[in-house]
Amino acid sequence: MTKITKLDDIVSLCKRRGFIFQSSEIYGGLASCYDYGPLGVELKNNVKKAWWKNVVQMRDDVVGLDCSILMHPLVWKASGHADQFVDLVAECKKCNIRTRVDHLKEKIAETEPRPLGSGGTQEHTEHIAIDAAIAKAQDLSGKICPNCGTVGQFTDPMPFRLMFETQMGANVDDSMLMYLRPETAQGIFVNFRNVLDTTRVKIPFGIAQIGKSFRNEVTTKAFIFRTREFEQAELEFFCEPGTDEKWYEHWKEQRFNWYLNLGIKKENLKFRVHEADELAHYAKACVDVEYKFPFGSGDWQELEGIANRTDFDLRQHQRGMRTLNKWFENDGNLNNIKLAEEAEDYQSGPLSYFDDEQRKRYIPYVIEPSAGIDRSTLAFLVDAYDEEEVRGETRNLLRFHHALAPIKVGIFPLVKKEGMPEVAQNIYNDLKKYFNCFYDEKGAVGRRYRRQDEAGTPFCVTVDGQTMQDNTVTVRERDSMEQVRISTDQLHNHLREKLEL
Ligand code: ATP
Repeated sequence: MTKITKLDDIVSLCKRRGFIFQSSEIYGGLASCYDYGPLGVELKNNVKKAWWKNVVQMRDDVVGLDCSILMHPLVWKASGHADQFVDLVAECKKCNIRTRVDHLKEKIAETEPRPLGSGGTQEHTEHIAIDAAIAKAQDLSGKICPNCGTVGQFTDPMPFRLMFETQMGANVDDSMLMYLRPETAQGIFVNFRNVLDTTRVKIPFGIAQIGKSFRNEVTTKAFIFRTREFEQAELEFFCEPGTDEKWYEHWKEQRFNWYLNLGIKKENLKFRVHEADELAHYAKACVDVEYKFPFGSGDWQELEGIANRTDFDLRQHQRGMRTLNKWFENDGNLNNIKLAEEAEDYQSGPLSYFDDEQRKRYIPYVIEPSAGIDRSTLAFLVDAYDEEEVRGETRNLLRFHHALAPIKVGIFPLVKKEGMPEVAQNIYNDLKKYFNCFYDEKGAVGRRYRRQDEAGTPFCVTVDGQTMQDNTVTVRERDSMEQVRISTDQLHNHLREKLEL
């Protein structure tokens, strides 16, 4: 059973063991930005590899992509982000701190522990008319400021844009206002035609991408759960209208099982179906995969959203393409232009698909599983954490799935003499060609085992006196602590089989 019940505990665990550090720490830190340390980068890379293997490598119907973060500004006009990707915020009149309106709590909830995602289940107001969102915002007279505790002293809700802006171009005259992408998905939609034209994909098929996204989030302070720079793993699965419900169910099941198969405990994972009034107007259905973070009283929070986005995105980009001339005429100023109306024959537009067998053209529907790499890395970490009593001592360990473990094998000489370090070094040099290994000869061997348990290393190999006589070594397994003797020439095969790599 995990014993982590406070967010601070996981933050200090991550720091102590070199998983995650505050960004720019020596300068006092940069809020809501984090750096992955030596163990953290291995863990996060393994999470990405596991996603890619499952969603791209093992499937015949998905291809990959890696798009640039900076994209043409019209992309964000067409997607709706330029006008509507905002959070509604209210400023406390006493301390002048702004909070997301949907994250404000009633005064009676004052003593409840502060949840990891800061409470709300609502989405950003993406694709919702801002006026309507403001009208819908509840009465704030009973709400409490999370910063200073003042009740009901808020300004009216106002929109706060979440996209980071930057300038592109060296000359003042032709420099252009750009946005750091707030999601990776749009890069996939704008490359739909390129992928169709250059590969043999046929509908149904998907395009997958892992990459950084940026959002100037209002509410942070939740470690890597909600940051301003984060990584997403997104799949856009294109299918024929009418088959979309089947594919939606398919991806729900696939994605849920992905977390379970990588070791997340079943009781900590669930779906949360979005109610009709929570859905974006174009979405037919949406569900979140939620994880029960053990902090406070236990808090279900979104790891991934899976949505049936219909044909909205490709149709919007067809409108975006029709707006290009107007954009040039307006010197590239997005604020002065409206997105062009849709063509009457939009079904045969530039982002349509021609089905050879049925001899018909249509705009495909899209099923989108959209996962957060940092959030799932945090969930894998928290879920793997364990403490147990062994011979009167507490053993801390991370029971990572083998595929996720940052280090796969620790290699030790029992003592630093009698030729043992040399033999252990040779084994290390050989095995590191295949697995991420760690060589350690410092301190008592028991302590070295504990250190690897804490890093989540599944196997440790120890060279001892007997090795020098019969060429066998001890292989110790992390979870059971069982030890077996294996001949050195069988070692690689033995570990490969056990690790299933
Ligand atoms: P939330 O409601 O928590 O702000 P969202 O519904 O806006 O999230 P999506 O736009 O659906 O999130 O993004 C897909 C996934 O990307 C989320 O499920 C989450 O795992 C991840 N994600 C989104 N925003 C952040 C963030 N600020 N920090 C870390 N991960 C994020």
